[in-house]
Amino acid sequence: MTFTLIDPSTGAAFREVHRADVEEVDAAVARAVVAQRSWAALAPVARADALRAFARAVEEHIDELARLEVLNSGHPIGSARWEASHVAQVLNFYAGAPERLSGQQIPVAGGLDVTFHEPYGVVGIIVPWNFPMTIASWGFAPALAAGNAVVLKPAELTPLTAVRLGELALEAGLPEGLFQVITGSGSIVGQRFVSHPDVRKVVFTGSTAVGTDVAAGCARELKPVTLELGGKSANIVFADADLEKAAAAAPGAVFDNAGQDCCARSRILVERSVYDRFLELLEPAVAAWRVGDPALESTEMGPLISAAHRSTVASFLEGADVAFRGSAPEGDGFWFAPTVVLAGREDRIAREEVFGPVVAVLPFDDEADAIALANDTAYGLAGSIWTENLGRAVRVSRGVKSGVLSVNSHSSVRYWTPFGGMKASGLGRELGPDAAEHFTETKNVFFATDAS
Ligand code: NAP
Ligand code: MG
Repeated sequence: MTFTLIDPSTGAAFREVHRADVEEVDAAVARAVVAQRSWAALAPVARADALRAFARAVEEHIDELARLEVLNSGHPIGSARWEASHVAQVLNFYAGAPERLSGQQIPVAGGLDVTFHEPYGVVGIIVPWNFPMTIASWGFAPALAAGNAVVLKPAELTPLTAVRLGELALEAGLPEGLFQVITGSGSIVGQRFVSHPDVRKVVFTGSTAVGTDVAAGCARELKPVTLELGGKSANIVFADADLEKAAAAAPGAVFDNAGQDCCARSRILVERSVYDRFLELLEPAVAAWRVGDPALESTEMGPLISAAHRSTVASFLEGADVAFRGSAPEGDGFWFAPTVVLAGREDRIAREEVFGPVVAVLPFDDEADAIALANDTAYGLAGSIWTENLGRAVRVSRGVKSGVLSVNSHSSVRYWTPFGGMKASGLGRELGPDAAEHFTETKNVFFATDAS
């Protein structure tokens, strides 16, 4: 059994990919169990060296990986190169972890009490189609660093870069069976990660609906799960902000990756006194956003991932009050022009995740109203606050219930800082200084020193 890959910028089918069944998953997990024992027994420096070698192999193939992502996912070549080099950086960063996974020594009478960070064993990682390389690495790099083996399921739509990363790991000298990429459907391969007794932790990134099911399945097996789910993040613009800067940055914050970004600032909340002025400044910024052939260096946004996803995104515009739109190519490919919608607080477009290049603009009255409106969502992943008032920046960033916020910028992902969502946006954190520890369980050992 196979599934067919489609180039989203042309709509043309270009490759068949194998669909694994449950027996193949079980065989992979059995190999992983064996590989993990030897991997965890290595000296910390040996695991560190192996991960650095893997990082170097990725660095040497950045262009190849980037071109695969352009073909398979329609990411602009510049973004795809950034994503591939990010994977190498994440590997290099967590290559520092094996030698730093220190336990504690706790004062106890009559002996010595110490803790160890023990790896779980085999970790199952389930990845969505929107950022196939980067999201995979946020799981596999710290998991491997902590002494685990990894089985990874890429999204059916976008498996090519993950498969290539699996090959590069072997070429770099990682042991056979330690890091395996298994292509197949979520309901078969992903579900088997959840139900397999030897997969001891699951990392899931994707929709809130599927993530909730995965968490329920993991609960039945009493296995820990990390969830990175959807978002409806707010970009809050106060009247005292540098409006020119805020408007110039807003398109990138929501239209990057064609809006198929869990961190997309898909609601722009603007203080009522500068609402009209902000829209005047936003219009030329949206018009200037370059949508087109992802293979071109100058392209800022490519197509949507699939025809079906484009229909879903388009459905959000039914009955919507469209203020203005940018441009997109005609013809084949799943193109969608960036769109700015004026929305009311109860509108579907203001509440549900679109996961496309559509942004809802809403006015607010004052600081308290801005915080209340930003929090009036099931989600809590990212967000931005634009103000020149320091006290307000502090108050609002503490008031918004989101895991990742930025003030006077839209940054959300740096591999050495924690990333993850509150409320329906997720459970647990990835990246940052502690991620390798999240792939371990603490063991406490007391050594009696009594001479008797
Ligand atoms: P999805 O349908 O939830 O799929 C995500 C992954 O889960 C895919 O690999 C999918 O496999 C697999 N899957 C599907 N059903 C499963 C099941 N029953 N058991 C186990 N695994 C299963 O999400 P998507 O449509 O790919 O991605 C879009 C969504 O992901 C958006 O809502 C977005 O916000 C969210 N997202 C969140 C983050 C974050 O970091 N918070 C990042 C990216 C995306 P298939 O190959 O069969 O589809
Ligand atoms: Mg899906």
